[in-house]
Amino acid sequence: MELLEDPENNYIVEEAEARVFAALTQSEIRYPMMENEKDVLIYPAARLIVEELGLPRLRSLQAEAESKEANRQLGNEEIPFVIEICESSFGWSVKSIGDLSKRASLPLMLRTYELQIRFENFLEVAPTFHSEEWSLINRYMDKGWIPIRRLELNRLISGKFRQLIMQGRFDIPKMSQRLIEAVHRIESEAKGRIRQVEPLKLTETLATAFPPCIEKMYTDSKRGEVNLSHDARFALAAFLLRIGMEEDDVQRVFSGSPDKHTSTIEYQVRHIATKRSSGEERGGYVPPGCKKLQVNNLCPVYLGTTFDPLCEYVLNPLGFYQTRAWELTKGIDDHSWYSKKRDKKQHF
Ligand code: SF4
Repeated sequence: MELLEDPENNYIVEEAEARVFAALTQSEIRYPMMENEKDVLIYPAARLIVEELGLPRLRSLQAEAESKEANRQLGNEEIPFVIEICESSFGWSVKSIGDLSKRASLPLMLRTYELQIRFENFLEVAPTFHSEEWSLINRYMDKGWIPIRRLELNRLISGKFRQLIMQGRFDIPKMSQRLIEAVHRIESEAKGRIRQVEPLKLTETLATAFPPCIEKMYTDSKRGEVNLSHDARFALAAFLLRIGMEEDDVQRVFSGSPDKHTSTIEYQVRHIATKRSSGEERGGYVPPGCKKLQVNNLCPVYLGTTFDPLCEYVLNPLGFYQTRAWELTKGIDDHSWYSKKRDKKQHF
């Protein structure tokens, strides 16, 4: 930190601030030319500014901007350098498959792959991508090694950068005066640009606004007496994350699961949450709609075990929740207004 007080090094804080500002405004961040060995301090200083502010949305914007820029920069690097980054930064095992003449002797389907990566390293990031080629089931694997194209490896590396920023909350050292000033400037910029969203703590009132489907899954999960199906877990986790519940709190909802597959559940919740954090504050997976829940036998109204008149006027549990939460805050318990204001969307 003393280094940052030296007037000669003012540029480090200025560049770090500019980098955070670029992330905040969703513009391209400017990489230092690395002409001076002290330039490596710019990135950690930018991370410190964001961590000191502790705004989840700003962290998410920084993760997005840094990850995109890393991907762009990697495109200019030679393969040995990229392999070195994988090993030294993440401990990944990546190796070349060989030059064109060596690859020409491989089966046709493998000739376009320049590199291979250990499957456990591939799995650190690939499940957060959603196209099918990132699914392990769609990849060729030989003794734990997965052939991978150079551009795919760049994507994995930039995805890992994003993860580290999203997960890497660290102890903040005593900040230099210049850095504190930069934090204040970014804070006042962020105020106008980021809608602050308080993490949701589930209160009794909010739980009362749950639609019957979510209410049943939530109660079953909390009681820990039955194993929720994969579809039910996905619907419940996507719903809770979407209404603004913190990832740790969602994990706790599933902690009583009798099948003790907690690592699978943790992975699923993290996967849904990662998708959310890569988009808008309320972006990411939308919980399945009523039709899908009905097909999967997860709608108690459709199954005839309970009834709520609001269910006839919504197509998604979120729509139910928003309306019912509004009614609760206004103290409305007469539901006859539905039929006056809304057309029925489904019949039971
Ligand atoms: S109708 Fe929709 S909101 Fe109502 S219980 Fe069924 S799935 Fe849930």
